[in-house]
Amino acid sequence: MQLYKNQELKIYNSLTSKKEVFKPINEGYIGMYVCGPTVYSNVHLGNVRTFMSFDMVFRYFKHLGYKVRYVRNITDAGHLENDADEGEDRIAKKARIEQIEPMEVVQMYTVDFHNTLNKFNFLPPSIEPTATGHIIEQIEIIKEILDKGLAYEVNGSVYFDVHKFNKTHNYGKLSGRNLEDLIHNTRTLDGQSDKKNPQDFALWKKAEPQHIMRWPSPWSDGFPGWHLECTAMSTKYLGEQFDIHGGGMDLKFPHHECEIAQAEACNNQSPVNVWMHANMLTLNSQKMAKSTGNNILPNEIFTGKNDKLSKPFSPSVTRFFMMQAHYRSILDFSSVAIEASERGFNKLMDAINTLSKLEVSKNTTNFNISSWKQSCYDAMNDDFNTPILIAELFSAVKFINQVKDEKATISQEDFDILTSTLNVFVFDVLGLQNVSDNDASGSNKLSDTVELLINMRAEARANKDFALSDKIRDELADIGIQLKDGKDGTTFTTN
Ligand SMILES: [Zn+2]
Repeated sequence: MQLYKNQELKIYNSLTSKKEVFKPINEGYIGMYVCGPTVYSNVHLGNVRTFMSFDMVFRYFKHLGYKVRYVRNITDAGHLENDADEGEDRIAKKARIEQIEPMEVVQMYTVDFHNTLNKFNFLPPSIEPTATGHIIEQIEIIKEILDKGLAYEVNGSVYFDVHKFNKTHNYGKLSGRNLEDLIHNTRTLDGQSDKKNPQDFALWKKAEPQHIMRWPSPWSDGFPGWHLECTAMSTKYLGEQFDIHGGGMDLKFPHHECEIAQAEACNNQSPVNVWMHANMLTLNSQKMAKSTGNNILPNEIFTGKNDKLSKPFSPSVTRFFMMQAHYRSILDFSSVAIEASERGFNKLMDAINTLSKLEVSKNTTNFNISSWKQSCYDAMNDDFNTPILIAELFSAVKFINQVKDEKATISQEDFDILTSTLNVFVFDVLGLQNVSDNDASGSNKLSDTVELLINMRAEARANKDFALSDKIRDELADIGIQLKDGKDGTTFTTN
């Protein structure tokens, strides 16, 4: 039987502002869409945190036995500098400044995004579609919305008619805004815009002559509005109605609100059952921003090359640091905070290494393993509460150290449950990697191999095959391993 049948999972739904018992549309299957990066610059640590939150969610669903189709897109066109459909396309602007093709910008930063996420041990999504790969689908949606009378064309551009839509639907239901407030709080149009109302948003924009990224459409040579790509790609791969849509908190409005409006205009039903929003990462209590220099890149963490850091930190320590906060809370990054996480991480990994060497000799266990195991699940079932899960993991760490110090005992059966449960939550669900263990086993393998060669060389010398014994010594020296013959036998050093 699949685990999810026994584990009641509650998820905080941004649409209802409540934790709700999660029930997928089709039992055993989950469709999840997460807004991916706009690939016009290096992914920064705040972006990593958002995607990591959903990587953890994806990992837990998989562990529970769900078959998950996880779609995370790449925005490679249509995202303008300003959310109010103004300014240059972010990718086209970067291409202009760097004097390269827009698709070179896209390639460069898509590769950077993947490399960075690999370092943090992310699982790849099931599908990673691009906006430019779905222009036809986007044009089809615009035609549908025009047919429903909820969009209008002006001078080759097409806009979504928010005011008309709001007469029959509820625009603003996700972000808790209503149209009256929006009208009150937005500046009036300056006469330059083709929009009927400032709240309307672009579905298609006619390209200016200098705009390179353009596609033909029934209305003009142009490009799709940013919000449209996510509606096109999510419905294409997950259907008109799917289980989960995620993204950063900053995307709730206008991006996700507009996605809901587009999908409801086409299909007359709410596209997503559960909306999940991950909170942001601040740096030294301030918003991260490139413009102010209050910013940190993942590579700077791994190398320590940023004056806000005391030393380098590994990807797993950084991941552990992020998992110590709930995904809906703001997390503040500082050198002091991540140093504390590093100590915690090392303690956890030491305990896992100790566990494998524990003596299992007694039939009794001074620790209620099965209730501890359920507490780990309870933490995750309560809206993916990773800080509580980590606190539970540390009760196991305490117990492991007690057994090591012979202050407690563990039975074979409990030892097996403890080992498998720790492996599940630490490595499969939190996605941490036991780096020290890898290093240790790596160097063990090296010394075992060199010992083997030392023995073969001793045999060769005993057989007076000096050509072979010298060859072993010289070729090891060539790769930086020196053999030293002493009276207690041969030892080796590496450089
Ligand atoms: Zn999106």
